Amino acid sequence: TTETEYELISKNEVLPMYKPRDKYAHKGDFGHGLIVGGSYGKIGAVHLATRSVLSSGAGLTTAFIPKCGYVPLQTSLPEAMVITDADTNKITAIDFDIKPDAIGIGIGMGKFPDTVSALKAFLKNNKAPLVIDADALNIISENNDLLKLIPENSILTPHPKELERLIGEWSNDFDKLKKASDFSTKYKVLVIIKGANTIIVYGQKKFISVTGNPGMATAGSGDVLTGIITGLLCQKYNPLESALFGVYLHGKAGDLALEEYGYQSLLASHIVDYIGEAYIDLF
Ligand code: AMP
Ligand code: MG
Repeated sequence: TTETEYELISKNEVLPMYKPRDKYAHKGDFGHGLIVGGSYGKIGAVHLATRSVLSSGAGLTTAFIPKCGYVPLQTSLPEAMVITDADTNKITAIDFDIKPDAIGIGIGMGKFPDTVSALKAFLKNNKAPLVIDADALNIISENNDLLKLIPENSILTPHPKELERLIGEWSNDFDKLKKASDFSTKYKVLVIIKGANTIIVYGQKKFISVTGNPGMATAGSGDVLTGIITGLLCQKYNPLESALFGVYLHGKAGDLALEEYGYQSLLASHIVDYIGEAYIDLF
């Protein structure tokens, strides 16, 4: 058989997950998110992800980046705190004195030898829930010994090329899902297969998104998803909820942004701007 059973990810499924805010809430209730990434010429990716952590509701947000990003990020995103690596252009040692509740790692990071070592050392010491994206996925694909260092229930967010590097080539969609399922089961991680119909694979379970549109096929779109999911993990949504709700909000924000910008002009930063409307639309 080539049939696959999916559960849908639509408003009906995510609404019961939603955590309303208490009148007496303070920012400490919503966690501290950390985005680790960036390199010379790719600080914008970190801006998008960090802004998305904030816009999805995290109480505090910090970005860990190479020094070259310090001024632009502090200037463009005043709500975020910034910690810098010792190196100007790339990440060489992921050292910080904060206790993040969730970490999104990999965007715009590159695969420099020092960055590979830094990721390895980080994974050995880290205790926080992780969203692993982009170059962190690519590094893991090229250094299979890192796989066993990934904490249980981490969320991996590969686009099709990153997925292929991670699980190998597939012969058809059915084979792709089987390989992703086997990978998810073996390493006890959630795999978000990004694309026109984003699919979340959690062991043998599969969920398919009904939100999103081809206007979102644009630079930085995935960085926004990483930020949203990191922000949800911070707010104590569990990893499966964070993945499902995050994919829903990202797609819905993209659908709402489409109405204003159209397919061609929709930018990743517009998706961030519509995260709020995506929440409001739930009710
Ligand atoms: P990335 O390639 O990492 O920037 O991720 C791209 C993001 O945009 C993912 O969240 C995809 O699901 C989304 N995306 C890309 N193309 C489409 C499409 N044709 N329809 C809906 N969503 C898309
Ligand atoms: Mg990406």
